[in-house]
Amino acid sequence: MSLDYDVFVVDPKPIPSAVPGFGEAVGPATWPPSTSTLISDDDSALLIDCLITEPEARKLAAWIRSHDRDPGYVYITHPHADHFLGLPEILAAFPEARPVALAEAIPAMEEQISPGYMKVWGGFFPGQLTAGPVAPKPLTGSTIAVGSSAATVIPVGTTDTGHSSVVHVPRLDLVVSGDVVYNQTHMWLAGSTPDSRASWLRALDAVAGLEAGTVIAGHRNPQAADDDARRQIGECRRYLADFEAALERSSTPAQLIEQMTAAYPGLANPYTLWVAAYDLLGTPTR
Ligand SMILES: [Zn+2]
Repeated sequence: MSLDYDVFVVDPKPIPSAVPGFGEAVGPATWPPSTSTLISDDDSALLIDCLITEPEARKLAAWIRSHDRDPGYVYITHPHADHFLGLPEILAAFPEARPVALAEAIPAMEEQISPGYMKVWGGFFPGQLTAGPVAPKPLTGSTIAVGSSAATVIPVGTTDTGHSSVVHVPRLDLVVSGDVVYNQTHMWLAGSTPDSRASWLRALDAVAGLEAGTVIAGHRNPQAADDDARRQIGECRRYLADFEAALERSSTPAQLIEQMTAAYPGLANPYTLWVAAYDLLGTPTR
């Protein structure tokens, strides 16, 4: 067997809505469609990110098993629990796998699995989350061996959260981008600032500089035409610029939602946009 990759895709999942009017205007609130990527070679493999709920992580483990390569490592791209609460299920299936992440990302990952945060995550997915969340350990160096090849971890700073990173596999012309690049899915901009959005643009430049042909986004629209790197990076740059301009012109959440929906009618998970709009422009009522 030669070096290869495969992508496990999870459709949008229903969650309780926390923004007024979403259900009436759009429909049930959902969590974005998500991916987990397996890089495999000879007799080993590297899993990148591992989803959030127990049922989907169990399905992911069965899918990995069908590839007949046990992961030596599980790399977590950034400190958002929807990319690593599935870890206990993966480690139960593959006890030899070593969960790793950027050392500087680990305190934020530990915060994500603190009792307070777990309560928040549990509110999105009641009864579906692990009772024993696990944080990864610090990665030593910046490469992860996969058989006779190597994947390189590249820190890119703040995107939809701090301490984000991507995984570059030059021999596959591939970048696994976590949440740095989104594929035809509304980008998570709740809690963002002009600085964080500028940082996200620099991170996209860093991914573009790798000149890979394929990007596997952590959140990928099931209807997306392909995983073309140039298209996705261009679309994400444009989305951030359009969001910045629309935010500038808006004084209410509805105005921002209206402009972005008109510009991006087909993107997956409009709930993400609504949350951002109410977070950045809503009148605090709590
Ligand atoms: Zn995410």
